Amino acid sequence: KFEESKVLQHLPKQFFANLVAKVNAKAASGADVINLGQGNPDQPTPEFIVKAMQEATANPADHKYSLFRGMPRLKQAAADFYKREYGVDLDPEKEVAILGGSKIGLVELPFALLNPGDTMLLPDPGYPDYLSGVALAQVKLELMSLSADKQYLPDYQQLDPKVVEQAKLMYLNYPNNPTGAVATPEFYEKTVQFAKEHHIGVVQDFAYGAIGFDGKRPVSFLQTPGAKEVGIETYTLSKSYNMAGWRVGFAVGNEDMIEAINLIQDHLFVSLFPAIQDAAVAALDSDQSSVKSLVALYQKRRDDFYAAARKIGWEPYPSGGAFYAWMPVPKGYTSEEFADLLLDKAAVAVAPGTGFGKSGEGYVRVGLLIDEPKFTEACERIGKLGLF
Ligand code: PLP
Repeated sequence: KFEESKVLQHLPKQFFANLVAKVNAKAASGADVINLGQGNPDQPTPEFIVKAMQEATANPADHKYSLFRGMPRLKQAAADFYKREYGVDLDPEKEVAILGGSKIGLVELPFALLNPGDTMLLPDPGYPDYLSGVALAQVKLELMSLSADKQYLPDYQQLDPKVVEQAKLMYLNYPNNPTGAVATPEFYEKTVQFAKEHHIGVVQDFAYGAIGFDGKRPVSFLQTPGAKEVGIETYTLSKSYNMAGWRVGFAVGNEDMIEAINLIQDHLFVSLFPAIQDAAVAALDSDQSSVKSLVALYQKRRDDFYAAARKIGWEPYPSGGAFYAWMPVPKGYTSEEFADLLLDKAAVAVAPGTGFGKSGEGYVRVGLLIDEPKFTEACERIGKLGLF
């Protein structure tokens, strides 16, 4: 019999596995569950991307080990994409690292950059998988508590100066999962200043970078003067091109941080499936019209959901991007109790805010990943509980 290592024992519980189990149990009891709990994009991958992959797989001689650090043409496509979309200049060899999805980069980064016992700052609420990196690298975690009254942006002045002095790395995520908050250029300017003053590396997770609402395009952290001196941004093809199962993304920015990621990748991975890299090139090089249609769809769903929620007196926190609605919990319930109640009594699954950290208390996250008639029905079922 083997025991898990101490490091593995310290890994946080997989919050979503628990949620899926609850939803499955409810469905198995015969309930018609409307699942708004998860974050798995429901739309198909655009056909031109699938075709590019199929063409790239056609030659049986092309399936050898590929380059450890990704194909030069994909790194070039990532650099061109950042230039075209954000006006950011990148050296494709030194300032781009290809990743098998951005999660892997975000989890391995603390391991690549910090020593056991070093301090890193994470947003609370935040994407739960950041915690895996903390546990694997055995670093000390300090949370930056975010709140609706500050638009879910950290207030650097409010952080404990002792913590700031020790911190070596900080994660940000805008557009934000779970709140839908977006960052402003002014906030990023403050971030660069703060990071320079205290020698803190910044990792901005831009997984939802392409998804901004009301005609406002989310800004890239790298558009901020001096950003490359202090940090990197991670990007994924999972959300904007509905390629979550393909596992491809990249990190861009600070040369030293990119080299650290590449070094750890050299040791942990061989290469991505080359045909997937070719498909990623096709996606990044495209005219982005598929992304525009997708953003329009998410915006319509957000508006439809908000309208249905308001009809039952449930007022949303206004989301500026990503594909979630961040919804307040009525008085008298914790977010977990409220989520359990909705599943139990209305067969509607939502993610409790506390799944993303303590500061998520008071909210639940709704994934805008099904179409309108279902949203309306979910809100009608919730309305019947008479909680608002
Ligand atoms: N970052 C955030 C905030 C996410 O929500 C997700 C996925 O849900 C990821 C990163 C990881 O995406 P991927 O590993 O598919 O690139």
